[in-house]
Amino acid sequence: MMLKRVAVIGAGAAGLCAARHILSRVNRFAPPVVYELTDKVGGTWCYDERVGTYPNGRPIHSSMYRDLRTNLPKEVMMFPDFPFDSSLNSFLPHHEVQRYLESYCQSHAIGPHIRAVDSVRPVVSADGEQSRTTWQMTSSDWSGRQETETFDAVFVCSGHYSHPHIPSIPGIDNFKGEVLHSHSYRYAEPYAGQTVVVLGAKASGLDISIELVKVGAKVTLSHRLPRITFPLPEGIQQSSPVVAVEDDGRLRFQDGSVSSADVLLLCTGYNFRYPFLDGRQLGLEIQDHVMTPLYRFLTPPAFPSLFFIGICKMVCPFPNFNVQVQFCMAVLDGSVTLPSRGEMEQEVRRELQEKLSRGVEHRHLHMMQLEQWDYCSSLASSGGFAPLPPVTRSLYEEVWRQRGVHPQKYRERNYRLVSDARWEELN
Ligand code: FAD
Repeated sequence: MMLKRVAVIGAGAAGLCAARHILSRVNRFAPPVVYELTDKVGGTWCYDERVGTYPNGRPIHSSMYRDLRTNLPKEVMMFPDFPFDSSLNSFLPHHEVQRYLESYCQSHAIGPHIRAVDSVRPVVSADGEQSRTTWQMTSSDWSGRQETETFDAVFVCSGHYSHPHIPSIPGIDNFKGEVLHSHSYRYAEPYAGQTVVVLGAKASGLDISIELVKVGAKVTLSHRLPRITFPLPEGIQQSSPVVAVEDDGRLRFQDGSVSSADVLLLCTGYNFRYPFLDGRQLGLEIQDHVMTPLYRFLTPPAFPSLFFIGICKMVCPFPNFNVQVQFCMAVLDGSVTLPSRGEMEQEVRRELQEKLSRGVEHRHLHMMQLEQWDYCSSLASSGGFAPLPPVTRSLYEEVWRQRGVHPQKYRERNYRLVSDARWEELN
């Protein structure tokens, strides 16, 4: 039997997970080629003090900041089949996660399969049969030397926390201070004593605000979420969203108030960007926050041998990648037969309509949170592999609850997995 050739784009957590599962099926799959832009594995977890671009002109990928500690304990963050070092605390500094991913890469002997990608092009067979589509990948090394190879399938694992979403704020050019996005924030010291308006109160906005007040910055957390009711550290005040900048450079907020600031820090999230893909050619609409149609958030119905891993938001990332990859492997090895293109398109349309009719905003169509568990169970049951252990959900939900009550202290706790079904708190 001809072995299937699979390309993996990105050597972050999702790409390494894909490579690991391909390498474990040597009877059906050739060793993958893993394309990576940088010279490191770990993606987001490779902290880089530089901002802007690498020496070769490509944008810096990681949005990691120096003092970040994980917001999930290692017991739930881990790939279910690869625990972190048991001597570590539950909530880790970023370099421990990068070390973990390096050791995952080493244990599964992925390193020798890693090379950077410029374009991905489907080559449709003469009879138009989808299952015979192959993929031409053009890649280049750091010296610019290009190479083209052909694959039966492609896993896109290039991440979606690298291309800042910059909201349009009328009059922004009038602002006299510094405007930066959290993608380029590294540490708090430069902002000591400054007045900082942080726009956005999700994970990064909240975390960075807490870092800033610790060095004596005066922070206004400006957001459109319901007012935060848990205790915020002294020095952080909340406000409605910034809606414009006045002619004199002061910020105007939605409630009509106006104030000046030294820094406007945009913690406004990231856009989907795939410069190496032609969305139109693939029948895909790639917008800032939404990519559609993707059957089960994984594959464009017109090209079901192209898989996007990890594009759902508000999920428990590594376990979610592990489930998605195993489902895609089941599609590729023939143990799962996907519905026809028309049926997949119809299902995606129906799901989107259903969400919109429930009042979900269009830009939140990839957010899962509670839905992630049914989603993962359903992929596991269709793919015929083990579902996530129940402990993943129970610990994830407990940590979310703790984050909501003690945003500054929840990382001080340590947990231990007692069984697939239970966890306990150690202190
Ligand atoms: P990435 O880690 O972004 O990896 C993508 C890889 O693809 C990169 O190595 C990149 O160089 C490569 N790439 C991109 N384009 C190309 C190309 N054209 N050719 C070749 N290679 C390419 N998750 C948690 O579970 N816990 C946390 O505490 C947590 N904290 C976070 C904090 C921050 C600041 C951010 C930004 C994210 C955090 N996350 C956290 C989510 C995190 O993104 C995921 O855990 C996970 O690391 C995403 O992995 P990925 O492989 O999808 O993407």
